[in-house]
Amino acid sequence: MKEPNNCSVCNTPVNRWDSAIELGIETGELEDGPNRFVIRDKHIRCSPSRAQRIMHPDFPPVIDDRPAFDIRLWKDAGKREHFIKCYTEAWMRVQNNHNPKQEFMYKKGIK
Ligand SMILES: [Zn+2]
Repeated sequence: MKEPNNCSVCNTPVNRWDSAIELGIETGELEDGPNRFVIRDKHIRCSPSRAQRIMHPDFPPVIDDRPAFDIRLWKDAGKREHFIKCYTEAWMRVQNNHNPKQEFMYKKGIK
């Protein structure tokens, strides 16, 4: 099934392994259901407030330096660790489910 799935931020195609919706489903923020086609998708990296929580050797670090979002400014280290663990593990599940060959386009400079 082909569906329009260009990123709402940069307007280039979103792969399932680089989909903010797929990540949101894995973190539990989004339900997998009809809603996923109502929300416009974007790349994980085009959502820095969430992408900054992914810390993995295959995922170049993202920094969100907007004070309201920057997790480096969080005083609660336990909360920060929790979110990093939650998002990093969710991202790894998205890769396992939708990017089995682990073809990380970031390494080729392609989004
Ligand atoms: Zn994008």
